[in-house]
Amino acid sequence: PRPVKKICCIGAGYVGGPTSAVIAQHNPDVAVTVVDLSEARIAAWKSTALPIYEPGLYEVVELARDGTDGRTPNFHFSTDISRTIDEADLILIAVNTPTKTVGLGAGGASDLAYVESAARHIAEVATSDKIIVEKSTVPCGTADSIREILDAHASPDVHFDILSNPEFLAEGTAINDLQKPDRILIGSLADDRGRHAAGALAQVYGSWVPQERIITINLWSSELAKLAANCMLAQRISSINSLSAICEATGANIEELAFAVGLDTRIGPKMLKSSAGFGGSCFKKDVLSLAYIAETLHLPEVSAYWKSVVDINEYQKERFAKRITKRLYNTLRLKKIAILGFAYKKNTGDTRESAAITIVGQLIAEGARIAIYDPQVSEQQIRQDLTYEHPAEVVKKQVEVFGDAISACADASAVVILTEWDEFKTDQTPDINSMDSAVRKQLVERTRRSHSASSSEGDADFRDSGFVTPAPSSSDSNPISAVVSEESRPADKRVDWV
Ligand code: NAD
Repeated sequence: PRPVKKICCIGAGYVGGPTSAVIAQHNPDVAVTVVDLSEARIAAWKSTALPIYEPGLYEVVELARDGTDGRTPNFHFSTDISRTIDEADLILIAVNTPTKTVGLGAGGASDLAYVESAARHIAEVATSDKIIVEKSTVPCGTADSIREILDAHASPDVHFDILSNPEFLAEGTAINDLQKPDRILIGSLADDRGRHAAGALAQVYGSWVPQERIITINLWSSELAKLAANCMLAQRISSINSLSAICEATGANIEELAFAVGLDTRIGPKMLKSSAGFGGSCFKKDVLSLAYIAETLHLPEVSAYWKSVVDINEYQKERFAKRITKRLYNTLRLKKIAILGFAYKKNTGDTRESAAITIVGQLIAEGARIAIYDPQVSEQQIRQDLTYEHPAEVVKKQVEVFGDAISACADASAVVILTEWDEFKTDQTPDINSMDSAVRKQLVERTRRSHSASSSEGDADFRDSGFVTPAPSSSDSNPISAVVSEESRPADKRVDWV
């Protein structure tokens, strides 16, 4: 295949930015330019304050963008979308594909408006042949729709090859996932042109990914494989979360259960940590997308099966908020609840679909005063997220955002850990360590005695730190939460795990 010399990535988000950075790092002879409609996002990518937080990202960006090791910079950002498209021989479409909120399939189907607008843009400005790569997660069959759009709008002497190359990175570990991917999937048509295009993209990845990890399959398998992978991962979390409810009702311990079950090599330990529910921009939307696909294929049982994965997740979030309320004598009115962590998991500032939004929302509705701290989420973002469900003046009145954990926790009736940031681990956190030591001692004792302690990765963090009986730890990345509820009885201060 003809080697690729110029790559254009449409979409400077969580996928487009890091993926392009790593491609540029390993392909110094290829010029990689990321474009976006958002001028602010592009300006941020050009600066020292990148628009997203991802461990190790800045180093890679600096290297390829600024040529810090003396190499020629080959990683660029631009808002001149038309020109960048026309100059490229390979174009990655990495735009957002949220769940549709209106019209046919609202609440389930993926909204392909951004993919469509990117495809139209390509068709309108391209004057030479291009390889078009679907990086966004899309429903099975989207390559056909892209082809129709391109055929309808492009000049007849320009040829497009369409590939599916779904991205499997997880936020928080994106750079590591990109540097050492489990697999690279490239879906193409099974004709010569398709195979050539797939070969060209495989060469780009071949600069750093071992050949045996680069898998070429058919377009539709590739599109469906991405949805299927996310759905299976989400399903594991909902399964373990549903079991946490049984544990709490019976005296079984969810962490012991997950450990015991995960030792079965057919099951394995990952994504088996119970939590307050999964979050993030992908799991819910992808499960709903698969359920909707099943519905349109007249497979109602299949659709219902996958929808139940989302239903359990909603149930888990609600259950968690209710437990906090119940523990504080069924009323939160005027009580202060500290929330540590607002991002949907550690090592990211992303709050899309974070369980914290729903849980804090319910605590606000109970009349609680909320004090929030997250190391990477801005006050503005927190207020914006909470304002979707509650009027701005209610959020303003009941929610305060702090710059550190200890200020957020001062005089709180309960401390709720909703993101498993390392700094909330008791052995690493001067903030949490500075909580009254007698209180912490009781916390340990009570947790040791409690069988139904909690069902969260947050517990795992405290447990790993030695405060609680050691138990297996797992390396999955679902969001967490732990609750330390400290009833405000000054004479007899107590800390309980909920
Ligand atoms: P994002 O919202 O962070 O980024 C998308 C960007 O595309 C935005 O900056 C938006 O302005 C830009 N955009 C939209 N339409 C455009 C157009 N026509 N021209 C130029 N720019 C345009 O989204 P994301 O989290 O990076 O996700 C992108 C896709 O990758 C989604 O389909 C998602 O499902 C998938 N994905 C996401 C992750 C993840 O962890 N976030 C992982 C794997 C796959």
